[in-house]
Amino acid sequence: MELIRERSAWRSLLEKRRKRGDSIGLVPTMGALHAGHLSLATAAVERCDFVAMTIFVNPLQFGDEKDLAAYPRDLGVDLQTAGDSGVHAVFAPSVGEIYPFGKPSTMVRPGPLADRLEGIARPSHFEGVATVVTKLFALSGASAAFFGEKDFQQLAIVSRLVDDLDLPIEVVGCPIVREADGLALSSRNRRLSRAERQAATALFRSLETGRLALAHGSDLDTAEKMMMAELTSEPLVTPSYAVAVEPATLERPEGAGRPLRLLVAATIGPVRLIDNVAAEQRGSDPVALDPVAS
Ligand code: AMP
Repeated sequence: MELIRERSAWRSLLEKRRKRGDSIGLVPTMGALHAGHLSLATAAVERCDFVAMTIFVNPLQFGDEKDLAAYPRDLGVDLQTAGDSGVHAVFAPSVGEIYPFGKPSTMVRPGPLADRLEGIARPSHFEGVATVVTKLFALSGASAAFFGEKDFQQLAIVSRLVDDLDLPIEVVGCPIVREADGLALSSRNRRLSRAERQAATALFRSLETGRLALAHGSDLDTAEKMMMAELTSEPLVTPSYAVAVEPATLERPEGAGRPLRLLVAATIGPVRLIDNVAAEQRGSDPVALDPVAS
């Protein structure tokens, strides 16, 4: 597996592969790789000839300097893990390599999808994400890019960005990888104390509570209240939101019976965690409940 640090070398490596007829699968990450990231690599290996992973902690998407400084970084371990997962090349540029003129004067500003949920708590976050993702797409010439449903709002925004700007790339969403107790894997989990790690299971419990309530015919307001109650029942958890929305718009659905996405966010100790699951609102008849799928 190749490690590339410079954008010119990255461009020419991938151009060479494309000329050979290889399809390129791009897996953008910020490193501190875990099984969630690796599931994206595995999906890319299945669909593409050449799997290109980027590891770049993008300062433009961090509002808080302390959060940026504390973000875990371990390139040596990441390279080993990426290689073992079938990644062919890793692009790990410096900040100066990606932003040679400092903050770009042209930024990609996503529309209303970015103004809600995480966009409220982190005002310029999605502008930073959309800008770096557009640059990585341009530098890579990949035919497909793999993103986790874990960052559901990000996935919706990137999908919309590609449609709006006619970018020649397919956005592939991949299911959330979880710990045995339901906690979604996240690079930020490693900053939790033992007690905070235990409390963090409230996010998945909250989502499960909402999903089951809706499956039994609860209305959206009731389900959201139950989700919030589950979060607030944990003293170490400071909830941010617990909502049921339409997956494509992230808005409250107009009518009943449509597919829904439940999303929660909370601060626990030093970190903000997010999670989500698919849900469906059914009639009030008793139903057989499937094990959770996300
Ligand atoms: P990050 O390094 O946090 O920017 O994440 C890079 C990519 O990995 C994003 O597309 C995330 O949605 C995805 N990802 C992070 N955690 C998980 C997870 N637990 N399951 C699936 N995908 C994930």
